[in-house]
Amino acid sequence: MRLCDRRVKIVGTIGPASASAEGLEKAIRSGLNIARLNFSHGAHEDHLQVLTSLRKLSKDLGAPVSILQDLQGPKIRVGQFANGPMELKENTEVELRVTDEKSDGSFIPTSLKEVLSCVKPGQRILLDDGLMELVALEVKGSSIFCRVRYGGMLKDRKGLNLPGANLPIDPITPKDLKDLQFGLSHKVDYVALSFVRQASDMERLRELVSQSQSSHTRLIAKIEMLEALEDLDGIIQASDGVMVARGDLAIEAGQAQLPLIQKRIIERANYYRKPVITATQMLDSMIENPRPTRAEITDVANAVIDGSDALMLSAESASGKHPFLAIQTMHEIISEVERNSDIYYDINLEQEYLEIPEAIAASACLTAMKINAKAIVCFTTTGKTVSLISSYRPKASIIALTHLIEPLNRLELIWGTQTFRIQPYSTSEQAMSQAEELLLKTKMVVPGDRVVVTLGSPVAQGSKTNSIRVYSVSRRNVEEVSEEELPLRTRFSRDRALS
Ligand code: PGA
Ligand code: MN
Repeated sequence: MRLCDRRVKIVGTIGPASASAEGLEKAIRSGLNIARLNFSHGAHEDHLQVLTSLRKLSKDLGAPVSILQDLQGPKIRVGQFANGPMELKENTEVELRVTDEKSDGSFIPTSLKEVLSCVKPGQRILLDDGLMELVALEVKGSSIFCRVRYGGMLKDRKGLNLPGANLPIDPITPKDLKDLQFGLSHKVDYVALSFVRQASDMERLRELVSQSQSSHTRLIAKIEMLEALEDLDGIIQASDGVMVARGDLAIEAGQAQLPLIQKRIIERANYYRKPVITATQMLDSMIENPRPTRAEITDVANAVIDGSDALMLSAESASGKHPFLAIQTMHEIISEVERNSDIYYDINLEQEYLEIPEAIAASACLTAMKINAKAIVCFTTTGKTVSLISSYRPKASIIALTHLIEPLNRLELIWGTQTFRIQPYSTSEQAMSQAEELLLKTKMVVPGDRVVVTLGSPVAQGSKTNSIRVYSVSRRNVEEVSEEELPLRTRFSRDRALS
């Protein structure tokens, strides 16, 4: 089994448990494909160190890694308590006060004044990921008086959710703007925006990105608001990918709704051929324990079967006790599901009309199926055809070849795709001979295997993908290289104890 044989990709949040150069290398060797930098935490210097280490490691190991910058968005938080956590006792009354001051423990502070105009008696107010719950009784001056429904110990800066309340706040906060500028100046591959409510939020973000020096950066909408579900198709169309952000989504939409909402978001993203990441608490118990629960194993497997392009780890890889084991466990579960279930080849040929790029992608997948091709090789400069091919979920491996660094890293998020860097080429013969050499050397194919190729021709004019070719790999002398010299993900794992 090789890391590149796994189709569904792994997003790992980087944090204290994994942020050192050594930690990042272990994470990549364990199967990390996308590194998520969570801008709700950490200083820019810390993120910069991670970015620099990742780019270097990825080059040294021959393992492309996508970097995903996750912007905090308009998350509401409680303020600080001067004397330690505040106890909320069930069925008592408590005051939520709009103030920038610290609390002495007699009220819950929050700095967001908009809550006053939105909260009506009866509104549920959830604290700390929904662990505690208040019900609003009365709004008076700058205070909201509430009854505690579920109590607990409330600590500084915990999240506050108001399910269903339409807060008139900017989707991109001043902090997000600063963070975004930082991310774009370091050419992150993806930017994710939290608490997206409508398609125009993503259009705003796109405008900011396209004006920057990193216009190749792609946009992910985190679906975690009820409002977002009302404009789901519009948001997906305005984005380059989406995340099923189950943490806040379960609070906003109601926990029992979550499983079907997850399936619906994935189905719509698949329909629009956009990558979709399923996120939050996938292996939560591994923050503490070396093994996941049965429910978690099954959740990971079901998210694969639902059609996710990638699955995400949060605290498991950022601050848990077993960050690398969590990645390896996810790799193991995904690989096992893929080996044993027929989730491939969902090509929909009933659709009467396709645009040219879709038609080429569909035909490449159909040809690959008909001739039992081992691989679909795509020469690419933007990754567009590759993503479309991936959206048909072919059984053949998708091998993307490019001489550009941006698609090399960015395509790492795309289901079933393994990307390699090749030298610039000026004829299709030059391109093909590099491909054959690489595929044979890495044992991705053996002589006699069939391969479907997509490319833009004439090559010298940098044409868009317009051709499909079929090759039988002939016996050629390729230089034998040791496993260690091969790109990391094409090496066979021998001694990795995954069970
Ligand atoms: P978060 O997003 O971890 O940034 O809140 C994911 C989620 O809400 O599930
Ligand atoms: Mn969230």
